Amino acid sequence: MIRTRFAPSPTGFLHIGGARTALFSWAYARRHGGSFILRIEDTDLARSTPEAVQAILDGMGWLGLAHDEGPFYQTQRMARYREVIAEMLAAGTAYHCYMAPEELDRLRDEQRAQGLKPRYNGAWRPEAGKALPTPPAGVAPVIRFRNPTDGVVAWDDLVKGRIEIANAELDDLVIARADSTPTYNFCVVVDDRDMDITHVIRGDDHVNNTPRQINILRALGVHEPLYAHLSMILGDDGQKLSKRHGAVSVMQYDDQGYLPEAVLNYLARLGWSHGDDEVFSMQQFCEWFDLDHITPSAAQFNTEKLNWLNAHYLKRAEPVRLAALVQPRLEARGVTVNATPALGAIIALHRERVANLNELADAAAPFYVDVQPQAELLAKHLTPESLPALADFITGLPDVDWEAAAIGALIKESVARHGLKMPKLAMPLRVLLTGREQTPSVDALIATFPRETVLKRLALAG
Ligand code: GLU
Repeated sequence: MIRTRFAPSPTGFLHIGGARTALFSWAYARRHGGSFILRIEDTDLARSTPEAVQAILDGMGWLGLAHDEGPFYQTQRMARYREVIAEMLAAGTAYHCYMAPEELDRLRDEQRAQGLKPRYNGAWRPEAGKALPTPPAGVAPVIRFRNPTDGVVAWDDLVKGRIEIANAELDDLVIARADSTPTYNFCVVVDDRDMDITHVIRGDDHVNNTPRQINILRALGVHEPLYAHLSMILGDDGQKLSKRHGAVSVMQYDDQGYLPEAVLNYLARLGWSHGDDEVFSMQQFCEWFDLDHITPSAAQFNTEKLNWLNAHYLKRAEPVRLAALVQPRLEARGVTVNATPALGAIIALHRERVANLNELADAAAPFYVDVQPQAELLAKHLTPESLPALADFITGLPDVDWEAAAIGALIKESVARHGLKMPKLAMPLRVLLTGREQTPSVDALIATFPRETVLKRLALAG
């Protein structure tokens, strides 16, 4: 039974890298009929906020990455961590260390001065036949893990291949602070064990934690899960994503008018491939997804490709669904969406031509609010040459059948009578009706407006 987890620290929003980690963990569980667990690693009280928890839940919800278990909060599992620490103390795999922080600092300074790697010297580590110092009065001890001193800790990373670290490189990690709160790596270990995680899929910024976590797991007598460390995502310019540089919340993609399926499809291909397939549903992805085709090299973000996917999904989405997504965007701009013309019809007319939902809202707004075409657009298109054809068209409007073909025929007649080409009338019509030069086919555009609105807006042309 495959069990994966996504374990974000709620110290900010859910960004693109986190979303990809969540997606891969989710898809791997889906692929194997396993479970996907959401765990909120909120033990850093100074940096964790309820808003960030909500931002993560919102981001996951928007992407549709549903968890099967959780969310589990580490702050609610403190009693459990203390219980495991007590077991380890009893088993001798952890011990109290009374070295005062100042003493540890002094020790490290001395080591650095000698050109050595700063590390704890094992003063309080129990060894057979070693007499430990007497605990000083009034000092609250930390609890350290008794890390093996010999050999290597190694694992076959499912992305990076075999990784080996000499135990001599690893300190005796503090697993509980002097105030008795458990530390980060320890909580992860207890949780991965208690939650029976089989595959840890996470960012490669955690590679350094893995040997420590494996050693603790082994000390607890459990076999470690398999690890897959995902390489980082670089920005469009090849630079590392950072808060100031491209590491935006996934909800910002919602604000910018992306569809979640476009973002998901895009993220799926960020460091993973299935031949040359670029466009696929999440159902398809879950059937294909494996850890063998994750690239160990960094993946580079490509906004153009994301835009292309978004346009692709906009063309295929149901107009009714798009209407439900566009309506709040119009309302946020103070545009009231009336029953006629139906927003779905306006969307059906435009969705082939836009890159995102905000552009759809831009295109839909002129159907619900009066437009004030810019003077220069009017001057450019309402020329003495065009005006007589426009006048003829206006004269024919009250009696024309209100559908695109008949309106198109009226446009053709009106230009033909004056020996003009179509754009000479189509352009002024576009500008007067929408304030824009770019619109879908003008006959379909006009047919989507109510006849009275068209008469009223064209009348303004004088
Ligand atoms: N809480 C860690 C983070 O947000 C992830 C830990 C893990 O996946 O093991 O980066």
